[in-house]
Formats: sequence, structure tokens, C-alpha cells
Amino acid sequence: MIKKFLLFITISLSTLLIWMIWNMSSFSSKQINIDSIDFLNISRVDSTFIGYDPIKFTENLSEAIKYKTISYSDSSLFEPIQFLSFHKFLERAYPLVFSNLEKSNFSNYSILLKWNGNSESLHNPILLMAHMDVVPVENQDSWTNFPFSGKIDGDYVWGRGAIDDKSSLIAILESLELLLYSGFTPNRDIYIAIGHDEENSGRNGNKLISESLRNEGVYFDMVLDEGSVLTEGIISSVEKPLAVIGIAEKGYVSIELTCNYGSGHSSMPDKETTIGKLSKAIVKIERNRMPSKLTAPVKKFFSYIGPEMSFQNRFLLSNSSFFSASILSKLNEDPITSAMVGTTAAPTIIEGGLKSNVLPSMARAVINYRIRQGDSINKVLKHVEMIINDNDISVKVLNDDLRAEPSKVSNPESPEFNIIHKTINEIFGDVIVAPGVILATTDSRHYQKIAKNIYRFMPIQMTSDDLSMVHGSNEKISIDSFITMIHFYYQLIKNIHAS
Ligand SMILES: [Zn+2]
Repeated sequence: MIKKFLLFITISLSTLLIWMIWNMSSFSSKQINIDSIDFLNISRVDSTFIGYDPIKFTENLSEAIKYKTISYSDSSLFEPIQFLSFHKFLERAYPLVFSNLEKSNFSNYSILLKWNGNSESLHNPILLMAHMDVVPVENQDSWTNFPFSGKIDGDYVWGRGAIDDKSSLIAILESLELLLYSGFTPNRDIYIAIGHDEENSGRNGNKLISESLRNEGVYFDMVLDEGSVLTEGIISSVEKPLAVIGIAEKGYVSIELTCNYGSGHSSMPDKETTIGKLSKAIVKIERNRMPSKLTAPVKKFFSYIGPEMSFQNRFLLSNSSFFSASILSKLNEDPITSAMVGTTAAPTIIEGGLKSNVLPSMARAVINYRIRQGDSINKVLKHVEMIINDNDISVKVLNDDLRAEPSKVSNPESPEFNIIHKTINEIFGDVIVAPGVILATTDSRHYQKIAKNIYRFMPIQMTSDDLSMVHGSNEKISIDSFITMIHFYYQLIKNIHAS
């Protein structure tokens, strides 16, 4: 009997091992071998590059930064003149774009451009997105140069928006202007959406643009927005630079906790107090995370980077369904990778009490959640209610404009994904490209009903230190990186046209 049992165990283990090795052997590279393009050489010899002038490109970005197109959370601070002057600047700097493309404005300040393609085109249009608004500057003293100086110091262009997202906006317009110079007409309609309130949820900009296009019956094969970049060192076991194309973004909800409990004199406190109860609730939330999971976009991510990793990681990731618990626990060690696989909870506001010797009867906290694919706003609410389980604390969803369910997951095997992939390799050379989930929200979510696929990628190489400049101090972009962005959009449009 024992012999039979041992035999059974041996056969089972061998079968499992063979299955795992087979999985690993079919875990093949999804990278494409392609030669990079030397744009500097082309620009010297190709007459279609008449308008190719890196100094002019850089000056245009510098000027774009000088306009204080700031999205404040307090709408009374909004400065129309800054946005309208910015529009005038764009029209001045890109005469071919603004005379050849159809332009419409939304809520006065957001701009939609339509480049009509060849009329016999069988393709659905595509949409390129970038926003003109920037976040406010919180601590001007911590900046080396004035945040709206647009200073060019030889290597960098400085200022708020240098990365997020005026570099992308100006690079798109420069590439269009170059293509128009050369007499190029795309083989399908290309739209460019330039939102003015992305940093405030896009409700008066891209939300309205998408509704209007939907009424017209426009349906995109692809939307490309900001979101992810080319990074180095974020995943320690991947040595080459890694370009992540966001195929999904997380959802967003803020939950408000209000504790109403007895007030009174602080000389005779009860065993429990309003602030004490609320604090306990927050600690409970932090200690009881919602379960993490290898979601569809995360599995796709690993199916692209896994084959480029060491034997051990390849073995583990090619059998992710078997090793999911250990993969998840490894990912949960780091806040960035942990946020990829889980719904995160961040206490962002706490308030209560007015006087040092009075027990307040009310205290309030806000917990900001970023929701992974598979969870939902409703699941978050149910989870919080269950964890807190206290009749003195009411729990409700804050009705802010950023509230969003997790996005749909776009297809990483579509022709358009492959075009972005190919363009990245042509422009950045030997880098790994992978689909993935992005942790922030973008305006592209407004287009989910009218787009087959939404991708989120900004063609810029950044280190993890650079990432802190976004919405932080000393935002700047190297001139080389910015020129490369123009090459990227130029080549992307050409590649789309050729497909
Ligand atoms: Zn942005």
C-alpha cells in the first residue's frame, strides 16, 4: 500500500514538474527585433524635414511653460486669460496645424483638433491626448528656477508642466507641423484632444469632448494618452529599460468616516472618545487590506517581462497560477508593486476638535482608495463597513469628480499596440516593452465607451528620482528627451499610416 502511495506521489510530482517546465518553455519572448532610427541623420538629408529645428522646438516648449494654465481645486482661482493666451500662442507656433485641422472648443478652453485622413480610409480614427493644465506650485522656495520661467539652461527646460504634460502636448503639435510641412496626409482621421482640466477630473473638458464625439458616432481604434513612461530600475530583476504601455488604470474613490460620540469636559473622559474611536477605525482599515490578486493586466505585464528575466523568475512567472501566493507576497513588499496588485487605502484627511480641554462630539476622516481591476466602489464601501463595524461611525462615499470604477483592460495583442511597441523600439532602441496597469487616473477614461483600445504611454525615459518631479518641485525635462518625444509621435503617426 505504502509502495503504491509513494509511486502515486512520485508520478504526480513528476507530471507537475513536466507541466511546469513545459509552461516555462512556452513562455517565449514577446519583444520585437527592430533597428532604431537615427533621426538626426534623417533631418540632415531628408527634405521633408524642412521645419526640423531643435532650437525652435525647445523655445516653443519653454514658452508653453510660461503660461500659468493652472487647475486649482478652488475654481474661483481659475485664470481664463492664461488659457486664452496659451491658445493664441499655440495658433502662432503651429500655423499649419491650426489652418489644416478642424478645431472645436469645449467649455471655451479645451481644444479638439481633427485631421481628416484620406476619405477612402477603411480604418477607424485614432485619438492622441495631452492636457494643457498643470497643478499649482505649493512651495515656490524649493524651486531652483521660477516654476513658470520656462528657463532653458543648456541641457534642460525648467518649469511646471515640463513633464506633465506640456512636453507631450508640444511634442505632438511639433510632429504634426513637421508632417504637414512635408505634405503628409494620414490614411485615417486623427484627432488630438487637448484638455484644460485634467488635473481636476476633466469633467468640463474631455468628458464633454467624448460625449460630443459619441453623439457624432465617432469610434476610435486607439486612444493614446499619458500615464506610463520608460523607466529603469523599478523592477529590480529587469536590467534593460522598461517601457510600460498602460492597458488599464485603477479606479478611484474617497470614503468619508464620520464619528459622532459623546462630547464633554476633557477632565472626565469616557473609556472611549470620538477621536479615539475614529483613530481605531483608521488603524483597522490599515491593518485589513482588501485581498490582492494577480489581475488580468498584471498577468499580461508578467507575460512580457517574465521571458526577459533570470531562470528562477522565469520558472516562477510562467507558472504564476501555481505560485500566485508567493508572487503576491513578494510584490506586496514594495509600495509600487503592491499597488499594482491591490486596492490601496490611504488616510488623507483627519479633522476634529476645536479646543484643548473639550472632547469633540464629532470627528471626520477621509480614506482615499485606488481600486484594482476586479474590485469596485461598492466592494470598497462594503469592506470598510465590515471592518469598522461601529454604529457610532458612519461611512459614506465622497461624491468627488475623480470617482471612477477601475477601467476596462485594453488588448495588448491589437495591431495598434504592436505599432506603439514597434515605435518605442525604433526610437529608444533595445528596451523591453510590456503592457501594464497604471496607478493614477487619466482623462482617457472618459473615452471608454467610444474606443476599442486605450493605451497610456508618454515617450520619455525617467528614473524613479525623476518621478518625484511630477507634481513636485523642480520639474524639468532634458532637451534630448523632449526632442526624442517629437521623434516618437512623428514616427508613430507614420507607422499608423503604413499599417
Ligand atoms: Zn498629466
